[in-house]
Amino acid sequence: MITRSIASVDSLTWQEQLAESIRDPKKLLEWLEFDQKIIDSLLGGATEASNDFSLRAPKAYLKRITKGDPNDPLLKQILPSKEEMYAIPGYTTDPLEETEANLVPGLIHKYPGRVLLVVSTNCAINCRYCFRRSFPYQENKPGRGEWEQALAYIRNNTSITEVIFSGGDPLAASDKQLRWLTNEISKIPHIQRLRVHTRLPIVIPDRITDDCIEWLTSSRLLTSLVIHSNHPKELDVSVAAALNRLSQAGVILLNQTVLLAGINDSIEVLQELSERLFQMKVLPYYLHQLDKVKGAAHFEVNDATAKALILKLTSRLPGYLVPKLVREIPGMPSKAPLL
Ligand code: SF4
Repeated sequence: MITRSIASVDSLTWQEQLAESIRDPKKLLEWLEFDQKIIDSLLGGATEASNDFSLRAPKAYLKRITKGDPNDPLLKQILPSKEEMYAIPGYTTDPLEETEANLVPGLIHKYPGRVLLVVSTNCAINCRYCFRRSFPYQENKPGRGEWEQALAYIRNNTSITEVIFSGGDPLAASDKQLRWLTNEISKIPHIQRLRVHTRLPIVIPDRITDDCIEWLTSSRLLTSLVIHSNHPKELDVSVAAALNRLSQAGVILLNQTVLLAGINDSIEVLQELSERLFQMKVLPYYLHQLDKVKGAAHFEVNDATAKALILKLTSRLPGYLVPKLVREIPGMPSKAPLL
């Protein structure tokens, strides 16, 4: 069943908005009304980089980008660029060594007590810094029958108490599929918590439909939703409406941000992000140092700058609005705090 949310910014369903995403760099630059000189300077690199990792951007997100501004912090997260093609030492296709933890199709077991399921191989947006931009999604596309292998793994490991829906973006899957998987997981007695990591409430807020809220809130599992917002400009009224529906329904909301050079590496931006998130009943949870994925080196912020930003944030905000600064290190039993 397709349902519409009350936060609809136009008459399209979320699936239709997804299908109408812009995939062509030239179309994107024209849609954002850049003058020809800027289009000429950006298009070659954007086209080349998009051959390696495609452009994908829905209009619900593009509407928040300032037209004609090549430095817009939302545009920089999605526009392929020539910098992605540079080979930088230390930047690899599998920076978190996830292929070693990909024990059965669709399941990644990195940390004690919790497993991650690759519920969808698609995303609503292709973030240029994505650490899974080269992930072997084709080998992790279980159909209903094949999910049995992942479910059996969870059933047989009684130390696992939390399941994390990931992807791709798990909310790119249908509510029917998500409800089915949630039901199967809730039948496993030792699973207590379900965590959903998604950028869809930010990218296409209309994704938060009645059906979505229903499966999120109707199982016995303690459920939290981790949205991935990197900049306060992403948090417009349509996102506020979607998050309000989730919080009204009792869904615990957390945010995870990636620290990105030229996008959110400023105290003012990080402070505003935390404050706006909390206005929308979302707790800032993690500020992530960039995973060293090939093609994303130009987004790196060094540790000294990152730590200085968190210390400044601590001097300006109450503790519950200061996210934990962390880095993921392959083989460690959890994210590593940097402060
Ligand atoms: S939404 Fe997440 S998984 Fe998808 S491209 Fe962005 S960072 Fe990667």
